[in-house]
Amino acid sequence: MRFRHIAFALASLFLIFPLTAIAQQISSRSMDDLNWMEFKRFVPAKINTVILTVGTLEAHGFINNGADNTVPVGIAHAIADDVNALIAPHIPYGITGILAPYPGSLHIPEEPFRNYVRAVLIGLVNNGFKNIIILNGHGPQIPALQSLAEEISLQYKVNTLVINWWILTADITKQLFGEDGGHATNNETAMVQALNPKLVHWEWFTGKDMATALPSPPDGWSATPFPSTILEYTEGQGLPKDRSQAKAEEYYQKVVARVRAVVQDTLQKWCSAGFN
Ligand SMILES: [Zn+2]
Repeated sequence: MRFRHIAFALASLFLIFPLTAIAQQISSRSMDDLNWMEFKRFVPAKINTVILTVGTLEAHGFINNGADNTVPVGIAHAIADDVNALIAPHIPYGITGILAPYPGSLHIPEEPFRNYVRAVLIGLVNNGFKNIIILNGHGPQIPALQSLAEEISLQYKVNTLVINWWILTADITKQLFGEDGGHATNNETAMVQALNPKLVHWEWFTGKDMATALPSPPDGWSATPFPSTILEYTEGQGLPKDRSQAKAEEYYQKVVARVRAVVQDTLQKWCSAGFN
């Protein structure tokens, strides 16, 4: 009798607390994919880091207008497990500026962009995240993102890190391609090709007539629209040449490794300093 009672009690427990059947591992790293109960179970007790990717829609030579969205989202998915982070839904509209007149591009003025991103960051803080990693894909919004990240950290006592992947990895670009990078040049083309080769349309590439070097010194001249959609940081350097998938993947792996290392190192140092 006693055994039957125990068995009945155990069976009842499983009926009352079906949560015991829920996996210990989170079912997805994307906030988009989680329900509120699973989210509550993991954040912030087991996961207190979130990656927010930010990009824009902007003409990029013969690669996709959404290259600045494709790349940070790709990197986020590659590192989220290793840094124990969730990935917030991506922000695809940004401060495009001088390339916005090209077909399919889209510009958000700085003020609404700042206000919107600020609201998203506050929303992430309110959801319990202590570490917010902003993974940016687009240059002209760097000042806005850096000042917002600092503001949110100081005001809400959370830790923020902004990563501009193509600047962080400029030495890797130079080492692997033997030249400086740029906008829609060797570096971005390789990243997009590694993530989705179908987005790189070599058949549309007509050579150096598609590129213009950024003025050096920077304010020597300016033009809107900028006369080309491939922008060289150093004149005559960065034009995509190497079509090899293996080389694109090698570059991608090195970029991902660098971003992962910076995030891991920063998280660990915040922790050691008592900020986590
Ligand atoms: Zn870009």
